[in-house]
Parts: sequence; structure tokens; C-alpha cells
Amino acid sequence: MTAANLTHAPRFSAADAQRLAQDFYGLSLAAEPLPSERDQNFLLRDGAAARFVLKIANRDEALEFLDLQNKLLRFLAGRDTGLEFPRLIAARSGLEIMPVSAADGSAHFVRLLTWVEGVCLADIAPHSQELLRSLGAALARLDNALAGFTHPAAQRVFHWDLRHASMAWQQLDLLPEPRRRMLQPFLDAWGELDWSPLPSGVIYNDANDYNVLVDAAGTRVVSFLDLGDVVHSAVIGDLAIALAYAMLGKRDPIAAAADVVAGYHQIRPLSEAETDALYTLAAARLCASVCHAADQARQAPHNSYLNISNQPAWALLEKLADFPAGWPREVFRRTCGYSCDARSSASLAESRRRVLGPSLSISYSRPLHIIRGWRQHLYDAGGRAYLDCVNNVAHVGHCHPRVNAAIARQMDLLNTNTRYLHEHLAEYAERLTATLPEPLRVVFLVCSGSEANELALRLARAHTKGDKLLVLDAAYHGNTSALVDISPYKFNGPGGRGKPAHVEVMPLPDIYRGPYRGADAAARYAAHVAGAARQTAGLAAFFAESASGCGGQVFFPRGYLAEAFAAVRAAGGVCVADEVQTGFGRAGSHFWMFETQGAVPDIVTMGKPIANGHPMGAVVTTREIADSFANGMEYFNTFGGNPVSCAAGLSVLDVIRDEGLQEHARVTGDYLLAGLRELSARHELIGDVRGCGLFLGIELVRDRETREPAGQEASRLVDRMKDLGVLLSTDGPHHNVIKIKPPLVFGQADADLLLEGLGSVLAGQAAQDSSSVSLTLQDFRSEPRQ
Ligand code: PMP
Repeated sequence: MTAANLTHAPRFSAADAQRLAQDFYGLSLAAEPLPSERDQNFLLRDGAAARFVLKIANRDEALEFLDLQNKLLRFLAGRDTGLEFPRLIAARSGLEIMPVSAADGSAHFVRLLTWVEGVCLADIAPHSQELLRSLGAALARLDNALAGFTHPAAQRVFHWDLRHASMAWQQLDLLPEPRRRMLQPFLDAWGELDWSPLPSGVIYNDANDYNVLVDAAGTRVVSFLDLGDVVHSAVIGDLAIALAYAMLGKRDPIAAAADVVAGYHQIRPLSEAETDALYTLAAARLCASVCHAADQARQAPHNSYLNISNQPAWALLEKLADFPAGWPREVFRRTCGYSCDARSSASLAESRRRVLGPSLSISYSRPLHIIRGWRQHLYDAGGRAYLDCVNNVAHVGHCHPRVNAAIARQMDLLNTNTRYLHEHLAEYAERLTATLPEPLRVVFLVCSGSEANELALRLARAHTKGDKLLVLDAAYHGNTSALVDISPYKFNGPGGRGKPAHVEVMPLPDIYRGPYRGADAAARYAAHVAGAARQTAGLAAFFAESASGCGGQVFFPRGYLAEAFAAVRAAGGVCVADEVQTGFGRAGSHFWMFETQGAVPDIVTMGKPIANGHPMGAVVTTREIADSFANGMEYFNTFGGNPVSCAAGLSVLDVIRDEGLQEHARVTGDYLLAGLRELSARHELIGDVRGCGLFLGIELVRDRETREPAGQEASRLVDRMKDLGVLLSTDGPHHNVIKIKPPLVFGQADADLLLEGLGSVLAGQAAQDSSSVSLTLQDFRSEPRQ
């Protein structure tokens, strides 16, 4: 059997339909064709008012099945479903099914149904949460009603029945690679499904978005059209099919599906087995749809209706293929209350207040409850996806399978300290130093960025015998006492005790907001370092990030670090480059951000991205400095450099290399920067955009002349972006810089999404200042359907 017996579809003209309406029903109305797959449907109009649908069945359609549809319409009319179904109109002859012959002599059957007012779900954008829940609830009411209906014709082998979805897989060969390969996991999941615990009955089986009718306000489902796919199958198939179509064109398809599931579950509670089968079946429906579409396109290459849901279905399948395995099922389990480890956000917030130190802050006024990470996305307990634009720890992507597998493998073999010989330790030290210029050849492995900077302090002091330190304004170097003392961000911030005597603060070489902004800015900022270095007796080190994170994503004028380093060395100090935020290819053009400055430090400190979230840090220095430190007192770090950490660190280096992430950061960063520059041409609020690879900043100002910082506006923007599913944060002394430093797998499509969101929110904010236009979450979540 072919996927759909399209070759036998009736071919009546509108004039034929008009004549049939007159002859059979005594109606003189205008007829216009409606799109359909196997049958022909004509809308009969009385002037502007739509009145009836004349349905001419495919000649292969069994009379018995048309009888089923008629009986079902009458059955539903007598049930309290809260829905309006078409009514069947008998012909003048008294028959509800009229036989008719086409010009070619083929026999067909004609029926007349009343027209139901409404708008197709497919024609509504965006789909509000209310509408999606209403879809689920309406379908559940229909399924509850259908439980009382039987008809022998429903017992059929039908290619759109999800139990027989494998009939569609016969068309797999029509699909090109890599698409065919992409479908395989969905098909495998379908093949492994246990159908036995799933309740069965007669189901509607076709809640596609062109069959779902919605009220004029676009908030409530009022009807389901076309009973041509009714079949006896697993009841859950109805919801699975609705999900498949409700997810089409959504930025966040699983969150949208969860809304439909929630609406359904409230009216017809899903069993645990049904809940677990849902996603597999919804995905199987999409696979069946693209397979049948390929077959139908082969049969009828000019029928555009056949392709109508094909492109969005592929786009959705590609998106679903990117979701972490098992996640959609977990979202549905949570939606239906089957997740045992789920605790409410309120209870977690209460526990946090009760048992965690109060100096720990939490992001956002309405905090997020994040339970899953995958690549550049985070997922909350309600199933919503967030594009993570700030997490530079999950450097090669949240939960990278290669890194996780390396950690798990080593964890199963051995985890101990560094007082034994081990391949991983040697290899990691060799591989890490190979990324750095001479003379940075000696490695110390630690457990965090703070430990790295703390050790850098000790190395510098041991080597120089000095004690004094130069730091950049607004810098943050870590959470220990000694590091708070060299972090103006902390000692000048809330709760800080001001600058300690052994520390001198250098102006942040900020060419947008700082004192020097011209061509000579590098030399003038460096002159401050030179002056302070000369005047400081007992200078140990100059600490500087290679581009300032906490300072507000500030990039130094070219040559600044090289000049400042030379001055520090001339005064007997050493230069520490804090690459905790900026290292490991994020800069795009270079592996280390200091390289963009043409400078070579004496000590480099690393953390955050080094092991993709596994707690690790490193210090790399020169042989000379390392030898000065070896004064008899051992440096031992219980966890630092253990084989598991080294395995994690090695796999991060492998992934950066094998996935070309440094180059990817360069290309994507350039693309994003260009987009941000375009945005700044349209929005006065953007004072400056700057970036290097995937380390970027957007500085917001109230006035481009005075550069008055727009801190409140920045935090409002970040909050709105969170509502739209995009995570950003602010930084800088005035909290007016939006920082962007996503996992490096962040791609061009993500950049587009970010830019689109920023554009909408900035336009919304500008409009809000003058009127009351505001963007809704759903405006952003739905993509236009072709
Ligand atoms: N240096 C810089 C530049 C940092 O941003 C941080 C952390 N934000 C640290 C050091 C300290 O790292 P950790 O939190 O891993 O101790």
C-alpha cells in the first residue's frame, strides 16, 4: 500500500461542486476548494458567509468508514465536550451519503457538513500558554467522550496510526542523508516502546494544527475538524499528534508541548506509562509525516498542500535531535507529577535561606530553578529552555559527552593525589604548556581560579622577595583573604575595607570611559603602571586580567600590556596574567587573551573553563620562578592535578582542537559583534559594543555624549531577556555593561536569536518610555510558519 491513495483522489471542479450542492441538497451557493490530502472539500458560501463543507470522498474510501464518521459526528453532538462539531446534513433524497460519478466514470461519495466558525491553530501566532493549555484540555475532553464510542470500521490498519508508524519507515530510502540518520534514534525509540500498558480505544488521530479550530480571540480551542483519520489505537496517540504539531515553529518546543500536556492531564490524567510514551510518539508522528511527505511528493510533485508541514517538521526534528537525551520525557514526567526528585522552587528557596550562608546571592528577582544543561542551553524545572550567553565555565558546552565520559572512565579507575607517577598528569602538563609561549613551561595544578591566583601571589613573592602589588581598578582575582586584598571590585565594593597598604590600584585601561581614550591611550595608561612600579619599593607583581571581566568587558588599547609588563620587570616585579575568564581559545584569534596584546607574562593563572566545570585550576610559570619557589617548603594540593581532573582537562583540550572551537569563537564572535554594531546604530541606549571572540560587552548609557551609565536599564534588559529565554548578566563598576561569554559551541543561529531578542527588548523599552507597547514571551517563542 502506498502512504496515501492520492492517485485516487477525486478531481471535481468548483463548478461541479456547486452543481452537486444544487442537485443533492437544493443549495445554490458558491463553491471554493479547500486544501485536502486524500479527499476533496469545497466550502459553500452564501455571499461572504461560509455555510457548509461539501466533502467528496476518495473512491477508495470504504462506505463503512464514512458511516463511522457520520455516526461519530452524531455521537459527539450528544456529548458535553464543550466543543462544537460540524452537523451532518442529509440530501434531499434523505441519504447522508450520496454516490456520484466523476467524468472519468469513477465512483465517489458526497456528504454535506455545516461550517464551524473559527481560526486554524496554524494561522494563529503566537500561541499563548492559555491557548496551548486549552488545546490539551479540549483534546482530553474529546478523548473522554470517545471512550464511549465504538465502530467496527475503526479497527483498521492505517498508515497514520502511530502503532503502525513503521509503515512510514518504508519510505526512509527517499530521504537524503544526513536526514535519514538523524531520524534513526527517534525510530529506535518507537521500536522499543511497550504498548501493552497504554489504554486503547477509538481516537480522533489527527489534531494537526490545520484541523484545530480556535475562537476569534485566539485563546480557546473550539473544535477539531476532519474525522478521516479516526482509528482504534492507543488513546495517547491523540495527544502525541497534537504535540507534534503544537511544537512546530516554536523556539522552545518542549516548553510549548509541556503546556499542552498540562492542559490535557488536568482533564484526563495521564498514566505514568502514557506520560513516558508521549514524546516518543510525538517524535514518531513527525518522522512519519516527513516520510509520507517524501512519498507523496514523489507521487504528486505539484501538490503544495502535501509539503505544507514538511519544512517546519524537519526544522523541528533537527531541534529535537539536539535536545539532551531523555530530557523531554523528564519534562513531561514533571508536568504530570511523576518525577520523584522534584521539589518546588519555593521549597528550594526556603531551604536555601535556612541552611546556606546569606552572603550567597542568587540571580534574578524570580530565581531560576535549573535542572539540566546541554551544549549552550540550560533547562528549568518547568521544561523551559534558556540560551546560556554567560557561562564561560561550560566552555565546550554543558555536559559535553566526551568530557563527561573521560571523567567517568577515570573515576572508575583511579582518583588519587599527585604523589605518584601518572600518565594523565605528565600528558596534561605537556599539552598545557604547549599552548603557551616560551618561557612559560612549568605547571602547578590546583582546584580553582582563586587557588591559582593565590599560588601566583606566593610564586611572585618568593621570586622577588617583594610584597607589594599593582592591580587594575575594578579587578576581581578570587575569594581568599589575600585575593580580596588585591581585588578592588571587592575591597572597594559593599562590605569591603578599602585598599590595603601593600596594594596600588592602576587605572583600568578603558578607552570608552577611562581618562585616556585617544591614540596614545596605551602609553598613557601604561605610564601609570611604570610610575607606580618605579615608586614601589619591594614590588612583587602586577596582576592583570588580559581583558577585564568584572571591570565591564574592557579590552585594553593595543600594546598596553606589553608596555606595562616591561615597566614592571624593569622595577623587579613579575607580571601575572589572570586568564581565568578569558583563556582556552575564547579570544578566537588566539588561544590566550594576552597574546592579543603582543605580551608575554611571567605567570599565567587559569580556572573556570579549564575542565568544563570540573573544579580545576592551573598556574603556568617560568622555570626560574618555579625554582625560586622551591625553597624547601613543599607545595601540596590534595586534589590539584588528580588523574580525574587531568582527564577532564585533557578532554577539554581535545574537544577545543577537534571541534575547532577557537576558530568557531572567532567567526561567531565577529558575526555577533557586527550584529551588535548594527543594533547600536538603531538604539541610542547602546553606548559601546566591544569584543574579542566570544568575550563581548554591550555598554548601556543614558546619553551618548555624557556617557551616563544606564545601570537600571541594563538590569531591566537582562531580566526581560531572561523572560524571553536568553540568559545574560551585567558587570562593570556601574553595572551597565551586558556581558556575553557563552559556551564556545554557541553558534550563528544562537547569535541571531540573541540579536533578535535584544532588538525586540530594546525596541520595547524605547516604546514603553513613550507608550505601552510590550513584548510578550510568546511573541518571541513562536517562529513564523511558512
Ligand atoms: N580571576 C578571575 C578573573 C575571575 O573571574 C574569577 C572568578 N570569577 C577568579 C579569578 C576566581 O576563580 P574561582 O571562583 O574559581 O576561585
